[in-house]
Amino acid sequence: MRRKNLIFFIILFLILCVSSIGCVPQAPIPERATVFAMDTIIEITVYGVKADEMVTRSIAELHRLEELLSVTRPESDLARINASGGNPVIVSPETVSLLEVGIDFWEKTGGAFFPGLYTISLAWGFTTDEHLVPEDEELTALLEFIEMEQIQILDNTVVIPFGMKLDFGAIAKGYAIDQIQTIAQELTVESALFSLGGEILAWGTRPDGTPWRIGVLHPITNEYLGIFEVSNMVIATSGRLERFFLGDDGQTYHHIINPETGRPVDNELASVTVLATSGVVADAYATALFVMGLEDGLAFIDEVDDVEAIFITHTGDFFQSKGASRYFTPTAP
Ligand code: AMP
Ligand code: MG
Repeated sequence: MRRKNLIFFIILFLILCVSSIGCVPQAPIPERATVFAMDTIIEITVYGVKADEMVTRSIAELHRLEELLSVTRPESDLARINASGGNPVIVSPETVSLLEVGIDFWEKTGGAFFPGLYTISLAWGFTTDEHLVPEDEELTALLEFIEMEQIQILDNTVVIPFGMKLDFGAIAKGYAIDQIQTIAQELTVESALFSLGGEILAWGTRPDGTPWRIGVLHPITNEYLGIFEVSNMVIATSGRLERFFLGDDGQTYHHIINPETGRPVDNELASVTVLATSGVVADAYATALFVMGLEDGLAFIDEVDDVEAIFITHTGDFFQSKGASRYFTPTAP
């Protein structure tokens, strides 16, 4: 009887081997989650033994950052600064350092990245979804109050000029990605993919050890333009189709503001995609390059080490920074 059992188990084992359930390695099953936070749909895919913990901690971190940085939650650090009417406000050290990062990018990009435009975004109704097309005079009057030079920071106290409001919408998701990278490092996760609206974190490699492959679509035609092959990289895209509305005049108005005019950026670009190891860097530069436009943006980013960009025009053409071809393979014509 015992011998019969043994034979049965050997046969069963062989069957399992042949049917490749037991002996040949299977594609690992990831831990997946979809959440809505920071005003965007977030898709999470994590592989490995700590995947469950990685997902839980990342989601908690995304919600924590939303509470800290959202302009629409009255108790957030940013909302309190914006409601200050020019008076000093004490905020967390984290908010102070992100503001310092924002000011740094404002300087580096010659003002194209401009985290002090929230009164302008409000005038267009971008955060309330009550869209309007403001008059030029109204925008000019609002712009008069907006001077980044006048922001004062002393320890954890921030003073912004009366009539100005801050908005970290062009950097907050990138910052969240950097926080997620820290969690992945702490948990020694080796394979994960995070998509936060326009930002993608390709952490480590695919489970089989090969780089992540991220396709690039033209934002208007949906034509497939090429593929990124990357590991431990952030890919951030800024473009006019992420958030826009149709005005009564039949024109479309999108959410990335030219800080000189207070109006949506109007140039030859449909989108800019930036590749960098840091989320904040990729996010801030994607917005800034979109504001700068094709020629200035390309010249600018070619001078920045270890950051690459793809500029996509309305007409479907695309242009790459000097080092982008190390990661990006265009679709064969
Ligand atoms: P992104 O999708 O990263 O390009 O960020 C766009 C968001 O940043 C907008 O929805 C606004 O909240 C804010 N924003 C608009 N224009 C600018 C600008 N020139 N510089 C910085 N932030 C901006
Ligand atoms: Mg950005």
